[in-house]
Amino acid sequence: MLRTIASLSLIATSLIAEQPRFLETLYDSWGQSLGISEEIVRHKSDQQDLILFQNPMFGRVLALDGVIQLTEADEAIYHEMMVHVPLLSHDNPKSVLVIGGGDGGSLREIVKHPQIERIVLVDIDQSVITFSKEYLPKLSDKAFEDPRITIAIADGAKFVAECKDTFDVIICDSTDPIGPGEVLFTSEFYGDCKKLLTKHGIFVNQNGVPFLQQDELTKTLNNRKPHFKNVGFYTATVPTYVGGPMAFGWASDKKYRVAESVLHQRMEKLKTKDFFYYTPAVHKAAFVLPNYMLKVIEGK
Ligand code: SAM
Repeated sequence: MLRTIASLSLIATSLIAEQPRFLETLYDSWGQSLGISEEIVRHKSDQQDLILFQNPMFGRVLALDGVIQLTEADEAIYHEMMVHVPLLSHDNPKSVLVIGGGDGGSLREIVKHPQIERIVLVDIDQSVITFSKEYLPKLSDKAFEDPRITIAIADGAKFVAECKDTFDVIICDSTDPIGPGEVLFTSEFYGDCKKLLTKHGIFVNQNGVPFLQQDELTKTLNNRKPHFKNVGFYTATVPTYVGGPMAFGWASDKKYRVAESVLHQRMEKLKTKDFFYYTPAVHKAAFVLPNYMLKVIEGK
């Protein structure tokens, strides 16, 4: 019996070993690896190397330039927190600019807000939109068909530098500051975003995993401070953004302190209230930061 169990576990180990694996290359000396049960697409665009594959635990996975962008299992955490935190904080948002976000996950959450009249999404890479629509239909859940949305294929930094429209909320749903995403973490970009925001406008962005990407926290903070009166972060734990909670950057001139009861009232007006992660209590708690982040923020 013991011998049977031992030989079964040997077979299991060798099967695991034989499964092709995706090794994330975000960090030099450490990285997560995900088994690939089916490779769906591999594509080299002018901007990025894209791979879409199936993982038995996380469902479909999208990676760009060797870095996980999303998995079907945990993307809702990221997209709900990226979108509903700024949109439910703002008193009356009517227009939203999304920079990046070509997978459509942020759009899916934005279109749940009936008062939003105008949504512009600017992604540098058409192939992310095309493959996400085809192979990750749950991500956008048909949001691309919403008549309020305009799509532009362009570099977000160039777009904001030249844009003449204004927006109540800007959501920078970008890759990390490596490759094409790098320009979306500069002081110039934040200054241009500020110019496009209305008086009580809010800017948020995906700001990496502070435990491992401390630099990203300090740099964005320092690059945003000259342009906004209030700069800070909130967090959420997304399992496949490994290394602890991830940070979302926040920048606005208005100081937002929205009561939980007000967030509840605003949530009632949404098309869907059944979220995977977001609740008004989570929203409030997300701004309570661990000391290792506070020390970085306070320059200690
Ligand atoms: N959830 C993801 C994460 O945190 O890694 C972000 C996902 S979304 C797929 C990132 C998008 O940013 C990609 O579609 C990529 O093409 C886009 N992107 C990167 N650099 C950009 C730029 N300079 N202008 C506009 N879009 C950009």
